[in-house]
Amino acid sequence: MGRILGPKCRLCRREGEKLFLKGERCHTSKCAITRRKYAPGMHGAKSGARLSDWGMQLRAKQKAKRIYHIGEAQFRIYFGKAYDSSEDTGEALLKQLEIRLDNVVFRLGFVSSRLLARQMVNHGFITVNGDTVTIPSFQVKPGDVIRFKDTKKETKLMMGIANKKGSETKSLPSWIVFDADKKESKILNLPKREDFIENVDDKLIVEFYSK
Ligand code: SF4
Repeated sequence: MGRILGPKCRLCRREGEKLFLKGERCHTSKCAITRRKYAPGMHGAKSGARLSDWGMQLRAKQKAKRIYHIGEAQFRIYFGKAYDSSEDTGEALLKQLEIRLDNVVFRLGFVSSRLLARQMVNHGFITVNGDTVTIPSFQVKPGDVIRFKDTKKETKLMMGIANKKGSETKSLPSWIVFDADKKESKILNLPKREDFIENVDDKLIVEFYSK
């Protein structure tokens, strides 16, 4: 599956805002965009021309892909499904991004970036309803129970996670509940528009693909 490779901070600088792709570093003075808030490349500092409608649509689409670390082919598949659904296309698109297993692990607040969450899924640390799932794009559904796998190979990070109490994790979205005693999370319902906290303009994305 396609995914976005290369220096992450360049992606933020290209979009002109923090996308929080590198975890804790994004909250420090080392964040590249706090020091160089202009597009990367030789002419980046001079670029600032007003974008055309198409340019704004393109940037909205690219930003969403970068926030969720999704390649173009996979993103188009998500859009096609959203377009074919009976729901509002933009909302259906964002919902598919939100219910990816790697995003759910990130939303639980145990790791500081979606990339780390994806690694945890890839390395088999996550179970869904008792089964190990190593596919980051796995789509969760209401009633699914998500746990960190109890294995002897748990890393320091995993041990730290297991010892965390619910109050220590970041605030959870309303569609996920975390049981600190059982150390498991449950999907209550699918997220709605008001649950999407990323600054993504789905209307522009729909316009981009609808041409
Ligand atoms: Fe983006 Fe984080 Fe790099 Fe800052 S440190 S530019 S927020 S990836």
